[in-house]
Amino acid sequence: MTSFVTSFDFHRPETVPAAVALLGGTAESKLVAGGMTLLPTIKQRLATPSALIDLSKIPQLSGITLDGGVLTIGATTRHVDVAESELVRGHIPALVVLAAGIGDPAVRNRGTIGGSVANNDPSADYPAAVLGLDGTIVTDRREIAADDFFIGLFETALQPDEMIVALRFPVPAAAGYAKFKSPASRYATVGVWVAKNAGKVRVAVTGAGPCVFRAGQMEAALEQAFEPAAVAPIKIPAAGLNSDIHADAEYRAHLVTVMAKKAVVAATQAM
Ligand SMILES: Cc1cc2nc3c(=O)[nH]c(=O)nc-3n(C[C@H](O)[C@H](O)[C@H](O)COP(=O)(O)OP(=O)(O)OC[C@H]3O[C@@H](n4cnc5c(N)ncnc54)[C@H](O)[C@@H]3O)c2cc1C
Repeated sequence: MTSFVTSFDFHRPETVPAAVALLGGTAESKLVAGGMTLLPTIKQRLATPSALIDLSKIPQLSGITLDGGVLTIGATTRHVDVAESELVRGHIPALVVLAAGIGDPAVRNRGTIGGSVANNDPSADYPAAVLGLDGTIVTDRREIAADDFFIGLFETALQPDEMIVALRFPVPAAAGYAKFKSPASRYATVGVWVAKNAGKVRVAVTGAGPCVFRAGQMEAALEQAFEPAAVAPIKIPAAGLNSDIHADAEYRAHLVTVMAKKAVVAATQAM
């Protein structure tokens, strides 16, 4: 008879170096933050780690600070903490909107920003904010620009034994996020983040393709005129976009334009 019992070691380090040492100890070790993705993956036998390294007892990994126009959010900061942060609301209110729209209360009370960014689900919300804000991923050993971090489907620039410590976001002049969500999970069928800073505009799209990406044509149009009408005539090509039971590629391409217009409206209202 097949055994369905999975056994693994469980570690609860109290410092970042201790966690990194454990992670590098065996090839099959896995960090666990909120566990919202990792635990279902283990339950479905899609991952069989030999060791889990729980990050919940490392205090310096959690918290939100502002310094010199840069907002820093610790890796294990939960979605609910971002959604309820007055500091975030006062400087990048679109991040509050994004965090408050993730999943349901149970997911927001466990899920973390670091886990979301490391996982790089094609429909996750945070990657759009990180890329759209020109954020920086701070790891235990280096700083990675958002443009270099998100590589492909569930793939990032992280080394197997590398750990995210914090996310840094320069406070923009204006930013807005709009998503067309799956009614079941609230993941983004398509989500668009728009940010304006010092005359430059960044537009990051999640949910539509295998990995978050920037919409360069929309960025150029919005740098000419930061208004919804500027992106209204722009349709990104459907080729290469995701097609599934929720939406086909053509519909997703259409949604990118619709969500971009809404994100510009939201950003303009927040200015
Ligand atoms: C029902 C449901 C609905 C959801 N809806 C949404 C949604 O609407 N929008 C959305 O964006 N997300 C959604 N999520 C995802 C959720 O919000 C979490 O962000 C996501 O599950 C990962 O965060 P976590 O902290 O739970 O990570 P975990 O599950 O603990 O870890 C995920 C992966 O990241 C790695 N990891 C964790 N922390 C670090 C770190 N600091 N450094 C390096 N690697 C790390 C782990 O090893 C693992 O491989 C949903 C999840 C569920 C279950």
